[in-house]
Amino acid sequence: AQAQLAHGQRMEALGQLAGGIAHDFNNVLQAVSGGAKLIEDAGDNLARVRRIAAMVREAAVRGAAVTRRLLAFSRRADLRAEPLNAHDLLREMQEVLAYTLGGGIKMEVEVEARLPPLLADKGQMETILVNLAANARDAMAGQGTITFSAGIALVSGEDGGGPPQLALGAYIRLSVHDAGVGMPPEVLARASEPFFTTKPQGKGTGLGLAMARGFAEQSGGAFALESALGQGTTVSLWLPAAEEELPAAGPPASTYPDHAKIEHGNL
Ligand code: ADP
Repeated sequence: AQAQLAHGQRMEALGQLAGGIAHDFNNVLQAVSGGAKLIEDAGDNLARVRRIAAMVREAAVRGAAVTRRLLAFSRRADLRAEPLNAHDLLREMQEVLAYTLGGGIKMEVEVEARLPPLLADKGQMETILVNLAANARDAMAGQGTITFSAGIALVSGEDGGGPPQLALGAYIRLSVHDAGVGMPPEVLARASEPFFTTKPQGKGTGLGLAMARGFAEQSGGAFALESALGQGTTVSLWLPAAEEELPAAGPPASTYPDHAKIEHGNL
């Protein structure tokens, strides 16, 4: 039933993706065929023919951009998972994240002490964190704090813990929290659909959250959004904890404290 559900969700996402692509491509094709018709009717007005040809070429460039978006979305198929230490990853990314956030916004990092590594594709993980930072930045008027946090989440079956689609096991929960504008319920409900955006043309692709969701699910984890209008947004990814090799001699694996200390700030 789990697998069927996941399959259903994939089909649904694919349907939405196809719908979005079809819509965008339709616009491009209309511009191309409309342009061709205008050229047919332009007689020997060379200046006019050239103007229309330029317009048709621009439409083709837009078509290529649609294809690139599709490719970027399908690239998630070849993820290569490796054990990643959340603290190291965020430290390595500090500069690029700070750059993304711009001058006025502060970045805070809270990583649980002795957090086991997570298992995910590093390049894709970085892309997604930058996307989430950009979304958070767009939601805040150039000031305030964005918090990146990472902690352990054990899904044991009894207490649930984490989104329902997660299989039993240990996960690392990575969250990006902003105290920005937040989303109204109708945006929240659709925010992770491919090509859904509320941003002006040319600003948003509508793929950031769809990619984040796809990435988390393809990595064997889960994705969740919490948001309240006027209060802020938290985007969470659950990613499987990497199986750690047991030391040759020493204590058994379950030595992570129940309430691990949180390290604040300063990477
Ligand atoms: P894009 O950012 O290109 O619009 P996304 O898939 O990343 O695409 O986001 C979809 C929509 O979800 C955004 O247009 C915005 O309305 C909403 N959204 C995403 N992140 C946030 C956030 N941190 N705060 C408020 N709204 C957000």
